[in-house]
Amino acid sequence: MAKLIAANWKMNKTVDETVDFISGLKKSKIPKEMEIAVFPPFTSLHAASKLLEKSKISLGAQNMYFEEKGAFTGEISPLMLKELGCRYVLIGHSERRHIIAEKNKDIKKKFSLALKWELIPVLCVGETKKERKSGKTMEVIESQLKGIQASKGIVIAYEPVWAIGTGENATAKQASEMHSAIRRIISRNSIRIIYGGSVSPENSSNFLREKEIDGLLVGGASLDLKKFTYIINS
Ligand code: PEP
Repeated sequence: MAKLIAANWKMNKTVDETVDFISGLKKSKIPKEMEIAVFPPFTSLHAASKLLEKSKISLGAQNMYFEEKGAFTGEISPLMLKELGCRYVLIGHSERRHIIAEKNKDIKKKFSLALKWELIPVLCVGETKKERKSGKTMEVIESQLKGIQASKGIVIAYEPVWAIGTGENATAKQASEMHSAIRRIISRNSIRIIYGGSVSPENSSNFLREKEIDGLLVGGASLDLKKFTYIINS
């Protein structure tokens, strides 16, 4: 299985900035054993999709709604993402869980609907610092994974909340241990489990070296083409 390196731009980059970045990325060296995916904001998906038409770089969206269509002002349907050529969709990113207050039950509905529309869900799971300190990590991860259909090809992103955007990454050993625990919970070998949380050019190779880590979800460092291509080649 190719390792997946995914760029989550969050609420960053205009259409012009997206075009500049992707044009540069297409010219960069990408090792054959890596799959690269970019997750621009919704407003840039169309432009990104055009640029990536004949490219091996995949396109993903940062979120979707759990209904196909209807009176849901401001929401985006999986059909709309499909139409734009998205291969992946992030589901339950910690910023959506903790800032936008998305609930596990809605996240699971999104996950199922993404599968129905043949979008590959990248389900984000992870514990807060408080939960880790009080020994609740596994309980939290289990409840985030409970009931999800672990179909072949899906991606789980282990992203400890305390490591996202903080500069305090998990160690490769901590991430590896969590990845094998997640694999045990979902009892599937054929899915990719990627790590996210303050990945940088300085630490990326430590993670990619680990057998249990099938790739990286990169936030802050993916906004800079130089840093991101360094990570891809690390
Ligand atoms: C993320 O957005 O999923 C993420 C891990 O962010 P950062 O790399 O900035 O911690």
